[in-house]
Amino acid sequence: MSKEGRQGIHVLIAAAGSGSRTGLSTPKQYRRIGGKMVLRHTIEKFIDLQGLKSIRVIIAPEHAALYREAVQGLDLAPPVLGAKTRKQSVYNGLSAFTRAEYDDTVLIHDAARPFVSLSSIEHLLGAVQNGNAATLAAPVADTLVDQEYKIIDREKYSAVQTPQAFRIGLLKQAHEAFKNDDRFTDDAGIVAALGEIVTLVPGTRDNFKITTAEDMMMAERLLAAPRETRTGFGYDVHAFDPAPAEKIRLGGIDIPHPKKLLGHSDADVILHALTDALLGTIGEGDIGQLFPPSDMKWKNANSELFVKEAMRRVHHKSGHIIHADITLLAEAPKIGPHREKMIARLASMLGLDADRIGLKATTMEGLGFIGRQEGISAQCVVTVTFPT
Ligand code: MG
Repeated sequence: MSKEGRQGIHVLIAAAGSGSRTGLSTPKQYRRIGGKMVLRHTIEKFIDLQGLKSIRVIIAPEHAALYREAVQGLDLAPPVLGAKTRKQSVYNGLSAFTRAEYDDTVLIHDAARPFVSLSSIEHLLGAVQNGNAATLAAPVADTLVDQEYKIIDREKYSAVQTPQAFRIGLLKQAHEAFKNDDRFTDDAGIVAALGEIVTLVPGTRDNFKITTAEDMMMAERLLAAPRETRTGFGYDVHAFDPAPAEKIRLGGIDIPHPKKLLGHSDADVILHALTDALLGTIGEGDIGQLFPPSDMKWKNANSELFVKEAMRRVHHKSGHIIHADITLLAEAPKIGPHREKMIARLASMLGLDADRIGLKATTMEGLGFIGRQEGISAQCVVTVTFPT
């Protein structure tokens, strides 16, 4: 089935554990690695999923303040309080879904697995399209033996990871069928016990669960891995529409102006230059190739869609966008009075602090097509880091 054919996708992150095995005072999901809490690293792996409807975190009541700090500025569903066991906590999370959502897919994920890759998540979602349940599972690399040193055939075994993907209705039914059964340490196990087939999707070994203090150090080393910096450049021009108008769309906001720009989409020249700059960092062509004007789907489209798709592609290559610098070339409108609002809009779109957005405007001193007020143009440079 195509990605467009997917039902809605929900993410439920299990973060209610006390993490006592690390021996640390702050629970591992709220420890910082690379300056960011583990839970935040984990959530950010899911925010660009196509078809995403909600992300919800299951937390311990005593961690409410830590949780608020971890998710500041993110658009999440309200958290759900956990219970004594992971199984009961996940059940509490599932109870937040309405019956109308039972055909949607839920991804259950451990907060302490911040290294899951977007491509693993997408493979998992592909697998659950053809069935009702799927989990990431890594092959076992070490030789396995029992107490008597009898060698166990590792080819037959996999180490189960998360995320695990299910039709919501099925997982709820499985939890209810085994409500008082404490054998289970994961959700796929409960669904398998119902007699359902769970598809195993090969996971990577770096999607490990931070459990011990040693794991925490390994996580820090992984995040400190060397990265390279790439710069992308984008340029766009739009002509003014001769018909009178009341407002013009620039930088994701509407500004009162008697002329608007001509274009197939909303003609937001700033967002188009930004989209091309992002695509430039990964060598993936330009906005015209990705969203052809011949496709009626993009008629009057909000250009934020283009930026989001370019961001998804950058994140797919593990890129971190760290800065954008934009120059608008126009005689009018003046952007000064709208600058702060536009920067706030761009910062929220890109997930950046406002001081990582440069936004400048210049007139052309009456010269050329811009000077004659036939159209306006925008230039944008973005800086993105990638793993080497
Ligand atoms: Mg354009």
